[in-house]
Amino acid sequence: MRASRFFISTQKEAPSDAEIVSHQLMMRAGMIKRLGSGIYTYMPTGLRVIRKVEAIIRDEMNKAGAIEMLMPLVQPAELWQETGRWDKFGPEMMRVKDRHGRDYVIQPTSEEAVTDVARAEIKSYRQLPLNFYHIQTKFRDERRPRFGLMRGREFTMKDAYSFDRDLAGMQASYQVMFDAYSAIFTRFGLKFRAVAADNGAIGGSGSHEFHVIASTGEDALVYCPTSDYAANMEAAEAMPIASSRPAAAHALEKTATPGTVKCEQVAALLGIDLAHTVKTIALTVEKEEGGKPGGKLIKENWMLLLRGDHELNEVKVAKVPGLANHRFATEAEILECYGTIPGYLGPIGCKQPVTVVADRTVANMADFVCGANVEGFHFTGANWGRDVTEPLVADLRNVVEGDASPDGKGVLAIERGIEVGHVFQLGTAYSEKMKATFLDENGKPAPLQMGCYGIGVTRILGAAIEQNFDDKGIVWPSAIAPFEVVLCPMGMDRSEMVKSEVESLYAALTAAGVDVIVDDRGLRPGAMFADWELIGVPHRVVIGERGLKEGNLEYQGRRDFDATAVPVAGMVDFIK
Ligand code: ATP
Ligand code: MG
Ligand code: MG
Ligand code: MG
Repeated sequence: MRASRFFISTQKEAPSDAEIVSHQLMMRAGMIKRLGSGIYTYMPTGLRVIRKVEAIIRDEMNKAGAIEMLMPLVQPAELWQETGRWDKFGPEMMRVKDRHGRDYVIQPTSEEAVTDVARAEIKSYRQLPLNFYHIQTKFRDERRPRFGLMRGREFTMKDAYSFDRDLAGMQASYQVMFDAYSAIFTRFGLKFRAVAADNGAIGGSGSHEFHVIASTGEDALVYCPTSDYAANMEAAEAMPIASSRPAAAHALEKTATPGTVKCEQVAALLGIDLAHTVKTIALTVEKEEGGKPGGKLIKENWMLLLRGDHELNEVKVAKVPGLANHRFATEAEILECYGTIPGYLGPIGCKQPVTVVADRTVANMADFVCGANVEGFHFTGANWGRDVTEPLVADLRNVVEGDASPDGKGVLAIERGIEVGHVFQLGTAYSEKMKATFLDENGKPAPLQMGCYGIGVTRILGAAIEQNFDDKGIVWPSAIAPFEVVLCPMGMDRSEMVKSEVESLYAALTAAGVDVIVDDRGLRPGAMFADWELIGVPHRVVIGERGLKEGNLEYQGRRDFDATAVPVAGMVDFIK
């Protein structure tokens, strides 16, 4: 590739809506361009990275025996009604109508579409196992699209779906995918960790998430450095509480001072670290019927959700029927119940005075105002408290570093990660609802055992950058860099010597299968180097007359502090 015939558009400043480094650097490097909220054009440099990510995924999926297909972006609502997800998915699912008024979905995922293929095509156990995958655009109308490609609304996912005759077969297919994912993320050159995940809302028996390790990650990962134990925070909290530490619930014994309380204070009262966790607590609310002062006192069961975003602390309350004695509710469960998390306190009519008591006998009561960190969403006259003799341990679990590992093989450590992949044992949930059966050895119909496996193709770009950058820009791992090597000639138009060496090195690297670009734009060295450092090309070779006269080229790796003189003849081997 020659830079003069490619499209490079770098910028000194990032737009103000770019809050995290990967978003800023991708915008500055000209890899993506915003078209709308959570909707981006993949510019030529960015698309090269996407294509490399896809190629590695494809290669490993094919090696693992998965078969590529391509399912439609726009899918009829009827399929989604069959599984009940038309109602369950909530506002995250983009719905459109055609000219006849028929409903469609812009796919957020493809279980329904693939199960529809399976029920028509898979007739006998002899056809099994099968694993279909596609790399396709997804649309999720995320509540808060942000961070560029990391949480877009339109994004690319590789999603695969396995079909087996029985549970053992499905688990074997799952293991094959788990191993393929490990191979994929290793080939990307990224530090990653697979963690056990909670599969509450969807059900089934097993699930793992793959996370790229980055201090800016949205998720907390709990692992034991001296054993194989690793789980995301939700799953870790679902384990029995570590006996090495008193339950975090006891923090509630403290009472708060009356006054206006923001969610940080509620969190402090509950002993919760808002920066790192999503927390839920079951409460019974006593309030006046219809919110009318002086009205009849009624009781409602509420779920209070304290969510720790690293850039937004929110206290949310959801009314969850029948959850008064709920052991533990995850965000997913609340979503399951409502399709969405009812916003802040305000939208469910809590500006009226209400009494909030725990779902046990109340010992300590405090009277104060609580609510979200948003003006107008505080509510007054609330009483908080709980039975200190019978702590709501399950609701208030909070795994911290140093807790005993559930496997008894050490203590827990916590790090942050970005979810880039998710593998899931679905079982027969979809095949039963959609009547996707096959005939077993005895000629009897049985529902297909399914698994599903996603990788956030475009999110990988953001995650890779969050893990690999410096003050000059992106530092791509070679395997997914837009170009592996950039050749920077010094005065190519003036020097025949430089020109001919650039051409022969370009030809030699290309022949050796190295993805190389020549910067023939005629920029000054400073501006040229700054561009490639920002774009993050891992290897740079400077070709100048001075060096050539000594038989040398100047090599500098993207993380190197200084350039190294490398003999002209040895450069291809040096880079390979
Ligand atoms: P998250 O918890 O980040 O919302 P998810 O659990 O909803 O992700 P899955 O349904 O497991 O996502 O989808 C599989 C993969 O798709 C995720 O592991 C992630 O890498 C990617 N993904 C999900 N949502 C987005 C998004 N809005 N933008 C980019 N990639 C996404
Ligand atoms: Mg999501
Ligand atoms: Mg997730
Ligand atoms: Mg997931």
